[in-house]
Amino acid sequence: MTRRKLLGAVLTLMAGCAVSVFGKARFKMKIIAHRCVGCRDCHRICPVGAIVIHRGKANIDQTACTSCMLCESVCSYGAVERCEKL
Ligand code: SF4
Ligand code: SF4
Repeated sequence: MTRRKLLGAVLTLMAGCAVSVFGKARFKMKIIAHRCVGCRDCHRICPVGAIVIHRGKANIDQTACTSCMLCESVCSYGAVERCEKL
């Protein structure tokens, strides 16, 4: 992971913590399957183990995800997106 990516990840983690402290996140994370190359960067960085790689694609366990956005910040393929919660 490059320095720039690491800094981005730290800032994102801080933003995620702020969301957890000051209010519930209004969005959830989703994987855009056709963009995912299964590199596992998101799996490695997820602080709660909410991402598993299945058949070469990342999958997010929505019940475990805290919407901290770290996975979005490390994915080099734009395969993680935020979407509004219904
Ligand atoms: S970091 Fe992106 S490309 Fe890599 S496994 Fe996760 S979603 Fe897929
Ligand atoms: S947004 Fe969810 S899936 Fe992504 S790193 Fe944070 S807790 Fe894990």
